[in-house]
Amino acid sequence: MAGTFQPQYRTQAELEALQLEGLKWTVQHAYHGSEFYRERFDAAGVKPDAIQSLDDLRRLPFVTAQDLQQGYPFPLRAVPFERIVRIHASSGTTGKRKVMAYTAKDIDDWANMFARCYELAGLTALDRVQICVGYGVWTAGVGFQNGCERFGAMALPVGPGNTEMHLQFLEDFQPTVICSTASMALLLAEEAEKAGISDKLNVRKVIMGAERSSDAMRAKIRALFRAEHVFDIPGLTEVYGPGTGLDCLHHAGIHYFPDYYILEILDPNTLEPVKEGEVGEMVYTTLRKEGAPLVRYRSRDLTRLIPGTCACGSVLPRHDRISGRSDDMFIIRGVNIYPSHIEEILARHHGIASEYQIVLERHDDGKDYMTVKVERAPDGVQESDAGIAKNIATDMRKSLLVSGAVEIVGYGELPRTGRKSQRLFDKRT
Ligand code: ZN
Repeated sequence: MAGTFQPQYRTQAELEALQLEGLKWTVQHAYHGSEFYRERFDAAGVKPDAIQSLDDLRRLPFVTAQDLQQGYPFPLRAVPFERIVRIHASSGTTGKRKVMAYTAKDIDDWANMFARCYELAGLTALDRVQICVGYGVWTAGVGFQNGCERFGAMALPVGPGNTEMHLQFLEDFQPTVICSTASMALLLAEEAEKAGISDKLNVRKVIMGAERSSDAMRAKIRALFRAEHVFDIPGLTEVYGPGTGLDCLHHAGIHYFPDYYILEILDPNTLEPVKEGEVGEMVYTTLRKEGAPLVRYRSRDLTRLIPGTCACGSVLPRHDRISGRSDDMFIIRGVNIYPSHIEEILARHHGIASEYQIVLERHDDGKDYMTVKVERAPDGVQESDAGIAKNIATDMRKSLLVSGAVEIVGYGELPRTGRKSQRLFDKRT
């Protein structure tokens, strides 16, 4: 795929040369600029000069979220303060926020990376992009905005805002692209339908980030908006912010950017590479980040690499959608389960909507019980609930090897929020 923001390399050999150069630079930069990295590398007995091939990456120690929290407020900082032009922080639901410092070059690189995402989504300078994610200290709003301006489309920086304002903008300014969380996209699509304005809108593409979404939910959003494409935009504050990759028009996996970072997929328990195509934890090493470089950062996000070349012909490799987090896994009656397992099972059944919750409880008998609450389809009838619930429960028992109750609730009864929806409610402790 040609384009202003697509990578310059043509072959795997060219990419590897570029990555080795970036890796060497990053390790030198981190070692000489950051006390944290110097101590870590020294403890591991690796001097920067020892990095002579891409395989040498595996000699380097890991960085974790706990390291970022312990280094608060300026973890991993590897340049003097006069070179820092901005900070961003993650929402930090547990403990201290993860704060990242950016140099002017980091901000510039991030904008180019994000513009590449819009280019992969097939936008043009005539597109109008309604940005419905949070502005402020988060990386979301400003990331979508800078990328949009760098790309050259028109940004409508609405933020999460109120639904009424969003609907008014959708109708009056005729945006062609919506950028939001999946929950927010669903909320807006449903409200537009309720308000009877869906046919007056011009939304062609929805770019969704920050949380996982099921195929059912994506199909629903696409149908309600009469949109052509729904894209997944992954990203994390630690690696600049959103925009670390995007699926192309073929939607056959997420193209990621190996000229900006090396992605390792490792077994979260052994920290060894998984077999090709197997699911593991995404571990990032940045290749040109100055303010807060990452060397083998354990993101806890789970995915798998997709082998082969995409039909679009891009040289960019692909990973699958993020299927969960290695620390989201829960254990019930001795079985390890990820919420994505439940989601996959629900997707196989008809008569239900896309919203669900998993509730774990410990009863007086000392045993753990799992209940999956799922919404009835909008056109479903209560009389069918028992049969549908029974089929899902049977499927769960066969697929997960653990029993669970299934409760069907009315359409719209589970909460919808503009932020990430909580799926797992562990009431056992
Ligand atoms: Zn592609």
